[in-house]
Amino acid sequence: MPNVLGVSTDVLKRPELGTGARDGRMFLHADIKGYDLPPKTLCLTYDDGPGESNGDGAGPKTEALGAYLCDEGISATFFVIGAHAEKYPHVLRSLVRQGHTIGNHTYSHPGLVALAEADGDVVGEIARTEAILREFAGDTPRFFRAPYGNWRQVDWETKADKAVSNAAETLNASAQFDDYIGPVNWDISAEDFAFWRRSDSAGQAAVAYLALIEEVGRGIVLMHDSSNEEVIRRGNQTLELTQLLVKELKGRAYRFVGIEELPQVKAIRGSTHAEARRRGGDFEEASLTVPSRPRVSA
Ligand SMILES: [Zn+2]
Repeated sequence: MPNVLGVSTDVLKRPELGTGARDGRMFLHADIKGYDLPPKTLCLTYDDGPGESNGDGAGPKTEALGAYLCDEGISATFFVIGAHAEKYPHVLRSLVRQGHTIGNHTYSHPGLVALAEADGDVVGEIARTEAILREFAGDTPRFFRAPYGNWRQVDWETKADKAVSNAAETLNASAQFDDYIGPVNWDISAEDFAFWRRSDSAGQAAVAYLALIEEVGRGIVLMHDSSNEEVIRRGNQTLELTQLLVKELKGRAYRFVGIEELPQVKAIRGSTHAEARRRGGDFEEASLTVPSRPRVSA
């Protein structure tokens, strides 16, 4: 039966091991976003964790956040920093058990465009975290988010992002990340970390997020369950922020979907595999550029 891509559903099956679709060229040049979700549909994502702190006061509480979301029937995605993840393997295990997705957010959170320009270890940043996640975070495909959403060089003449990502080229040339999907960007961020840096309340951050969510109407929401910065970590109230948001948004008839439900993710998994099959297992770079809307093939 044809799906939204106009292709038969049997091509959605993953290709066999050893075909070109697993040759490591899975990082996209364009960002995955959530603007194709239906109205009032949100995909919650949390970056820069995991983190834990004692007591009821401020501070990272990734495990409690995961438990709360699970109780609310929400599957979220946690894009973890490897240096944090290796300190809290039990939190990774809990998140998986709670039905959440754990994504790779590099090992030390560098800007990848500058790192790639400087011939730095872009591959190692993803590989080190992958080694941690492989043990704790369950099955691939593995979702990836670039620190700061930093992925493509700026064209200084037009001031726009270049079409091709130097980070993607470096990672794809390594052929080490054959089941990766990314970069996953976001549609909605009221910059929770700025509230935590000022020791503002969860309520203040919730007001800002609600206003932005109502304005944008749908998409991937970015929050942070921890931080690389001590002052932001100390003020973190993302658990409380999430509790306020979920309660209010459910009352306003919003629904929450997991990352696998993003139309772009579905299109990537469908179209790259359809393309792989059409080419007998060898697909070209061009098929990895995600159109803003799912491509309807003949
Ligand atoms: Zn980050």
